[in-house]
Amino acid sequence: MKETNLTRRVLIKGSLVTGILVVASNILPVSVLATGNAAAIQHPLKNKRLYTDKGRCPNCGMMLNMWARTRQEFHNSEGDHSTCSIRCMADMSQNSGENPENAKTALYLHPEKMVAVGSASYVIGSSAKGTMTMKSKLAFASAAEAASFQKQYGGKVVDFETAFAAAAKELSMSRPKIEKKRKKKGKIADPTAEARCAVCGMYPARYPEHRCQISTGKGETHHFCSSQCMVSFLADPKQYVNKDIKAKSIWVTIPQEHSYEYAMGLYYLVGSSIMGPMGREAIPYRRKTVAEAAAGKHGGKVVRFKALTPQLISDNI
Ligand SMILES: [Zn+2]
Ligand SMILES: [Zn+2]
Repeated sequence: MKETNLTRRVLIKGSLVTGILVVASNILPVSVLATGNAAAIQHPLKNKRLYTDKGRCPNCGMMLNMWARTRQEFHNSEGDHSTCSIRCMADMSQNSGENPENAKTALYLHPEKMVAVGSASYVIGSSAKGTMTMKSKLAFASAAEAASFQKQYGGKVVDFETAFAAAAKELSMSRPKIEKKRKKKGKIADPTAEARCAVCGMYPARYPEHRCQISTGKGETHHFCSSQCMVSFLADPKQYVNKDIKAKSIWVTIPQEHSYEYAMGLYYLVGSSIMGPMGREAIPYRRKTVAEAAAGKHGGKVVRFKALTPQLISDNI
């Protein structure tokens, strides 16, 4: 009797375990995809396997290898680009006023592979985690593969044009959420009232239209009152903090928005009559056409962040 009970208990326990495993194999990928935790489909990729060696997304600063499942490659008049996502490609397209040429996408289930966007099928709005968006837009090798994913994780199967248009439409709405997330993750931080500009000693918190910051990625953030001070600092950090500083990410404020944005993705008006806290300033704009219109009105010229030097900002152009 005792033995029988024990045997039964073991059997029940065994079947329960089997049952849990069966259920788990059905539901685990959904929860994993929704939360982005490690398991069957890991996104972002946290292992050391490199699918790309191209560093960071030029639009948002995220590591391309980490977001390899959603990365994109394309060309425009400024050159060849690799972004973390279809969202950042849409953002760059909107900001430059150019459609992406020769665009390629990584396949979500095979991040080592890139295919022409026109040949891919997309699932948008599934329970899978997106990149830089609440609503994921994932590329698959074929319509059948996309349909099979959609069946399991929901969403809608669409072509590239539809996915790209959806990404472009969500851009302005997504910005406050992205900023909130960046603050939560410690990528950016508002300067305290006491924080001083590392170059001139003024209080960046008092200049919400011009303040900038750099992060070293080691918990070290340097705040600046203006792009003029930040560019001077980056040209020769030792002069101000007595050590070499390698900026991991650089953030500037777009005057009209009062919010921080990744510096590399923007267009800068230099040599204009628009002044900042320190006088001459590199004024950031999202859209190239808006920056150029401002140059027409206020003088100066439009450049990318990498071209900025203390000389270029302070010179009369
Ligand atoms: Zn990006
Ligand atoms: Zn300053």
